[in-house]
Amino acid sequence: MDFTDLYINGDWHKSDSGERFDVVNPATEKCITSVASASVADADAALDAAEAAMKDWAARTPRARSEILRRAWELMTARLDHFAHLITLENGKAGADARGEAAYAAEFFRWFAEEAVRADGMVTHAPASGARIIVQHKPAGIAVLVTPWNYPAAMGTRKIAPALAAGCAVIIKPAAETPLTMLALMPLLEEAGVPPGLVNVLPTRSAGPLVSHMMQDPRVRVISFTGSTAVGRKLLHAAADQVLKPAMELGGNAPLIVFDDADLDVALEGAMVAKMRNLGSACTAANRIYVHEAVAEEFTRRLAEAMGKLKVGDGTDPTVDVGALVNADTRDKVAAFVEDAVSRGAKVEVGGKAPEGKGYFYLPTVLTNVPETAECVHDEIFGPVAALQSFSHQEDVIRRANATEYGLVAYVFTQDMKRGMQVCERMDYGMVGLNRGLVSDPAAPFGGMKQSGLGREGGHEGMLEFMETQYISASW
Ligand code: NAP
Repeated sequence: MDFTDLYINGDWHKSDSGERFDVVNPATEKCITSVASASVADADAALDAAEAAMKDWAARTPRARSEILRRAWELMTARLDHFAHLITLENGKAGADARGEAAYAAEFFRWFAEEAVRADGMVTHAPASGARIIVQHKPAGIAVLVTPWNYPAAMGTRKIAPALAAGCAVIIKPAAETPLTMLALMPLLEEAGVPPGLVNVLPTRSAGPLVSHMMQDPRVRVISFTGSTAVGRKLLHAAADQVLKPAMELGGNAPLIVFDDADLDVALEGAMVAKMRNLGSACTAANRIYVHEAVAEEFTRRLAEAMGKLKVGDGTDPTVDVGALVNADTRDKVAAFVEDAVSRGAKVEVGGKAPEGKGYFYLPTVLTNVPETAECVHDEIFGPVAALQSFSHQEDVIRRANATEYGLVAYVFTQDMKRGMQVCERMDYGMVGLNRGLVSDPAAPFGGMKQSGLGREGGHEGMLEFMETQYISASW
């Protein structure tokens, strides 16, 4: 396989330490290839390259930056199958999920090509002195980007595109399980016209020391992280030492509420998307499904039927709906959540086990009567398990939906738009899907409240995460 070394200053390098690590196909448990493991000396080389590249890039016109991003979108869109295949190989997800991710990932280049020319400022009169207040945005500086394994392409492009639009250089540390997709994107960015050193990729087996070393370098001004809340907290502590601008996209524990007046066809379709997109390995995955008792029986029956029909297997087979979880730990964690819920009184309607044989698969599962004490009510399941509870009163379900430290996304299904909007506004969540099981959109601000994070990606806000606001007080 090509592109398995470190990508620094527009070139491929062995690691300074000579170390490499294996990347495994979760569907076969076989090694795909090995990649170079970056050391702190490699990080220093990447920082030097980023510093040099950013001087020229930040001075280019927004239009010049925009056109390169636009070209990246065109090239990636023309090669979706290539990227989808790579995503499936290293992450395990089914072909349709991988293709969906590749298209979503490419869209960030188009969206931020459009945003690059819209870093609006402001001019106004100071009310008391009459001086002009001029507000403008400047590139913040070198950004360190750390991404998870569940979306090997999109979690990277959702950071790279706005950073480049803003005028910043970046060093990206992809997840150790899935570094290949991000490395494969680099020749495409070169072809689009991204200059050497502007985007550097450092896979590593030593995430903690490598990222912490870069965060201590005064040239770095932004730490943009997507991953677990536990690691996000550590990085926020480290960011405090250098007062770095943090952007944190962390864990979720999404409630999905089906009211008795919901259109059940819509609710079912929404629940399948919110639960099964990316086989449940998504921060946006519906983790707790609350169904009004009047429709609980029908909803459960139909959801179990739909889940039971899904074909599980190697995602390179185009007839497969549900691929493999990324590694044995993730699969075992999903199995443990199910065992725990069952031991506390939950009932398995369908699935409930890992199939025999090779690969980190878990059968699509529906659990009912999941008690509030079950671990999966409080932690991310991150797998294909729908955990259902019933409710009878609106106030009670709002309280239960908000009773978590997380606040990324919630889903509400009702045909009464007055009720729908009232409930949405009372959700302590950064995003709410109303009669929709999908909220991710490059044009919308993606992000969480509470311990689901700080800052927003996508939308108009996404580029501002990589910019500083400067105010000039002027008289003339
Ligand atoms: P993770 O364990 O937090 O890892 C995420 C990234 O951080 C990986 O690149 C990892 O490297 C790196 N990392 C681990 N320890 C680190 C440290 N001490 N210092 C610096 N970097 C470190 O998360 P994950 O298991 O890959 O991903 C799943 C989590 O991501 C879930 O909680 C999910 O909800 C969250 N997520 C959130 C969003 C969002 O937008 N809010 C989107 C997707 C996923 P290694 O791979 O080498 O460990």
